[in-house]
Amino acid sequence: METNKITIAIDGYSSCGKSTLAKELARSLDYVFIDSGAMYRAVTLYALNTNCIIKGEVDEKSLIEALNDIDLQFELNPRTKTPEIILNGLNAEGQIRTPRVAEVVSKVATIKEVREKLVFEQRKMGSQGGIVMDGRDIGSVVFPNAELKLFITASNEIRIDRRYKELLRKGIETTREEVKNNLEQRDFIDSTREESPLIQTEDAIVLDNSELNREEQLAKALQLVNDLINV
Ligand code: C5P
Repeated sequence: METNKITIAIDGYSSCGKSTLAKELARSLDYVFIDSGAMYRAVTLYALNTNCIIKGEVDEKSLIEALNDIDLQFELNPRTKTPEIILNGLNAEGQIRTPRVAEVVSKVATIKEVREKLVFEQRKMGSQGGIVMDGRDIGSVVFPNAELKLFITASNEIRIDRRYKELLRKGIETTREEVKNNLEQRDFIDSTREESPLIQTEDAIVLDNSELNREEQLAKALQLVNDLINV
C-alpha cells in the first residue's frame, strides 16, 4: 500500500524542547528521528579530542582538513528506542552532551565546510521522507520543501530550567548562571552567523510550548500532521 510519509522539519533556539518533540513525533508516526545538533556536537567532540580546539579557539584550517576523517552514523539504542550518534565507530552520545562540547559547538557550527558536510549527510538520511529532523536550519536549508515546518519557542526561564535539570539528572555539575550564559551565547551565535543562521521561515508554524506539557505538545504536532496527511 502506498504510504504517505512526509518530511517534518523542527527548528528553534537551544533547549526549547525540539528534540523531545521530534523524538516523540517520530515514535508516534513510525518515522526516523534525526537530531542534527548531535552531529554538530560530534564534530566538536572530534575537534576537541584532536586538538583542533585549544582553549576555546577553533583551528579552522586543521578541522576542515580533518573533516574527511570524521564518520558519523546513528544507531538505535534498543532500550530507549532512540538513535544515538556513533563517531568513527564509537558511541559518543554521553560525551557530546557535556558543557565541554556545549561551550564551543556553536563556533564549530559557523564553519561553512562543516555545515556543507553535515547538510549533505542530513539530506541523504531524509531522501526517502518519513523523517523528523530537528535543528536550526532544517526548514530553511536542509529540507526547504518539507511538508511540515515547526518553529518551537519557549520562554527563556523555562528553557534555562529545563537544561539545568537535564544536566543535573545526568550528574553534570553546573549552575543556573552557567546554563543561562551558555544558552544566550549559543542563541546569539546561531542566529547571527553568516552561514545558514537560525531563522523562522515564513511557512513555519510556531509552537510555543512554555505552557504545554509533553503530551499536549505532541498532540498539537500530531494534529498538524494529520491535517496535512488527510487532505
Ligand atoms: O540542538 P543542539 O542544542 O544539540 O545543537 C547544538 C549546536 O549545534 C547549536 O547550538 C548550533 O550551534 C548547532 N546546530 C546548528 N544547526 C543545526 C543543529 C545544531 O548550527 N541544524
